[in-house]
Amino acid sequence: MKVLLILLLLVGSALAGTDQGERDEFTGEAVDFFLGKDKMAAKLEMTPSANCVEGDMEMTEEQKEVYNMMREVTAKNRARVRRAATTAFRLWPDKTLVYKFDSQLSKTMKTKFEEAVALYRETTCIKFVEAKDGYSGDVRPINIKGTGNGCYSTVGGPGGNLNLQESRCDHLGVCLHEIGHALGVYHEQTRSDRGDHVTINEKNIRKGYGNNFKMVDRPLLAPYDLQSIMHYSCDAFSKDGRSETIVPQDSSVKEKMGLQRRLSRLDIYKFNLMYGCYEGCPEDLKDKCQHGGVPSKECTCVCPEEYKGPYCEIFNAETACSALFTDTSGVIQSPGYPARYPSNTECVYAIECPVGMTVHLDFTDFDVEGYGCFYDIFETKTGDIIDEIYPDEYCDRELKGVAKHSKTNLALMKFKSDYMFNYKGFQVEYRCE
Ligand SMILES: [Zn+2]
Repeated sequence: MKVLLILLLLVGSALAGTDQGERDEFTGEAVDFFLGKDKMAAKLEMTPSANCVEGDMEMTEEQKEVYNMMREVTAKNRARVRRAATTAFRLWPDKTLVYKFDSQLSKTMKTKFEEAVALYRETTCIKFVEAKDGYSGDVRPINIKGTGNGCYSTVGGPGGNLNLQESRCDHLGVCLHEIGHALGVYHEQTRSDRGDHVTINEKNIRKGYGNNFKMVDRPLLAPYDLQSIMHYSCDAFSKDGRSETIVPQDSSVKEKMGLQRRLSRLDIYKFNLMYGCYEGCPEDLKDKCQHGGVPSKECTCVCPEEYKGPYCEIFNAETACSALFTDTSGVIQSPGYPARYPSNTECVYAIECPVGMTVHLDFTDFDVEGYGCFYDIFETKTGDIIDEIYPDEYCDRELKGVAKHSKTNLALMKFKSDYMFNYKGFQVEYRCE
């Protein structure tokens, strides 16, 4: 990856100063990585490891037995099974996960793990304590090791193992996901309400892997989250690695499942809720958070980047070209349109229609630098803002003549240009309907 970055910079600097010309085409994994996505992470977690369920949850025989009961639960035995589950899979005491690095774990892997821990520390009230040599606490630490085969973790604590196979599990997304298991969370796609969001395509499941798709009973703390760090991609346990097994009802979300680079806002909410982080917050805090915000551990709200303020009530116009539109119709143009847009521009647009209406977007003109949407990019978020973490991405002439509709009364767009190769830009006519 580093070699590729250097290569990109070299290509970039060789062409700097010219106005139009040729750029090498970068697509695939490198582009995804730089755009903040990681398609490999979910694949690594799904690769079956010894004693693991659904690829990466290491369980004892007793835990497996309880987990199977959770998969086969009936209305009659639900209460009993849930009691058994809280005994078999426990939360860490005192909201504190204690971990110990295996002496053989490399510095690279430790750093990656610490990077993930820092994100949990920042967004949740869960404490992470390293048991260094001579640790004499009462709580058995989880062993962070790299000697096993694959990326996996035990579920809940205290004690257990979290394995990050050297030079294989070196992904932030993998660490965030495995820590999620270590804290006691299961896979999002096994929730009992998944049928409202995804369809399981049985005929594409690899032979012998059907159990991995069984629903698992547990209390549901937050809305279903297709873009959760704990959700697998649409080709999970696929018979040929390509055919879809988990098909979202909204097909535009397909590419956003299993892109594990960050915690979604609903992930943050769920971890905080599980560990009692809102104990001192007002009861109605959740209802006060606007624009897809969720309660934060500080009793304010965790906002999407487009909004700020304690309750995400303020549009976050960081640049001069950013704008909030509240009229019921209007036109949005790239800076300088129809002349070429300037370099190094970032514009964020929010269209807020009256509640109960939706936003209709007509892209009457669209000409943005192409090349895998790597250099200049136009992003839209037109889904349910609460669970929309990864935007739809466009460049080239992809949106020319295209119409889009928002799911709610809110549509968000963002345009970014880099330091060269500027095109005509875009014109969007919108109306509330
Ligand atoms: Zn997992």
